[in-house]
Amino acid sequence: MLHKKDDIRGELLDEVFASTELSVSLPKYRMPPNEHLASHAHQLVIDELMLDGNSRQNLATFCQTWLEPEVRAIMAETLDKNMIDKDEYPQTAELEARCVHILADLWNSPEAANTLGTSTTGSSEAAMLGGMALLWNWRARRREAGKPTDKPNLITGPVQVCWHKFARYWDVELREIPMEGDRYIMNADEVIARVDENTIGVVPTLGVTFTGQYEPVHAVNEALDALQEETGLDIPIHVDGASGGFIAPFTVPELVWDFRLPRVKSINASGHKFGLAPLGVGWIVWRDAAELPEELIFDVNYLGGNMPTFALNFSRPGGQIVAQYYNFVRLGREGYRKVHMSCHDTAMYLAEQISQLGHFEIINDGGAESGIPAVSWKLKEGVEHPFNLFDLGDRLRTRGWQVPAYTMPKNREDLPVQRILVRQGFDRDAASLLMDDYRAAIAHFDAHPIVNSMTEEEAGTFHH
Ligand SMILES: *Cc1c(COP(=O)(O)O)cnc(C)c1O
Repeated sequence: MLHKKDDIRGELLDEVFASTELSVSLPKYRMPPNEHLASHAHQLVIDELMLDGNSRQNLATFCQTWLEPEVRAIMAETLDKNMIDKDEYPQTAELEARCVHILADLWNSPEAANTLGTSTTGSSEAAMLGGMALLWNWRARRREAGKPTDKPNLITGPVQVCWHKFARYWDVELREIPMEGDRYIMNADEVIARVDENTIGVVPTLGVTFTGQYEPVHAVNEALDALQEETGLDIPIHVDGASGGFIAPFTVPELVWDFRLPRVKSINASGHKFGLAPLGVGWIVWRDAAELPEELIFDVNYLGGNMPTFALNFSRPGGQIVAQYYNFVRLGREGYRKVHMSCHDTAMYLAEQISQLGHFEIINDGGAESGIPAVSWKLKEGVEHPFNLFDLGDRLRTRGWQVPAYTMPKNREDLPVQRILVRQGFDRDAASLLMDDYRAAIAHFDAHPIVNSMTEEEAGTFHH
């Protein structure tokens, strides 16, 4: 075909950026009076999002930011499925049930146990449900014993904000074990020192937000056994396995933290973190149906059929659950192990490279034994630094990297740290590109030392 310039021009009826609609700005906080062409509105909205960060370079988040094309296809194919509507979408409900059983099995639920669980929007909702079950069970035990139920408390290490929410929303005293010196997680002694008859449970975290470390569930379980022998107090454990629940079973199967420990009554995990599902799915599993108080379950009959529900939400997309099931089938245990071990390897490579820069001391090297594939570090003492961690984070932003810098919680607020989450989709090559930018940033500060460093507030960073 000959290139007929004039004919082609004649067919371009309305080139998007030449349209009159895109040559004016839209009111931002009012609805426009009239409709717009779909292609124009789409261009406009998508272009606004150019200013968002590139999620793959966001090393702060624990959430999945790379997804297989097949997962994207599943999400498009399931856009209309409402997971609450189990009568209309019984097969989606079936996949959800299978996921619960797969997780119960992965977390070594005893063969005979009558496990029960549900999907949620994420670990936050799952934590809320787990906390409620602990609270309701404790109240029932207290009432039966004729004792007051007005002063419940919950014991945790330094926790993710969802447990602060749980405590405030349900009026439970949070006994959060503060950090102490170089101890950034709970230990058994600190737990026992806080237990009393009003303790509804202990929540160790598998993959603490601030450092990525695993809390010692097994040691806490043993200490609580000894306590029961001594005092009669029978304290249950809920494990916040938001990240670690989907990692440890594959990378350190010998680590005993799950339903192998009789005190572990329930576990939550985020499907959209190391479960490798797209954003919007979490899980909670109880070791036995008896651990979930019946009063918390509602029966709903108005969607056709009769269905029990225990959740804070009602309508919710079903696609993430289907994608979770796809991942289980697609990867199997060995696939998950490979994905997560490669993240651990990359994390350890980063830890080594970062410590070679001379300015930093590693807190957690991201190896499989100590925690999730997260590297965390602080500035080395006794060395001059022409920058602080907030300056460094800010400088790395010029290359699109988001490496969070933040001060530690209670008792170590004096300590700023940096942390990198290595997830599927952040490979060794990306890590070496990041290290090039680290070296360039430090060379820049060597040449132009910061005389007036940034504060945490000015840096305006946040972490999950
Ligand atoms: C991310 C996280 C949560 C909250 O999970 P969401 O899925 O984001 O709601 C809770 N606890 C820990 C330890 C986490 O890492």
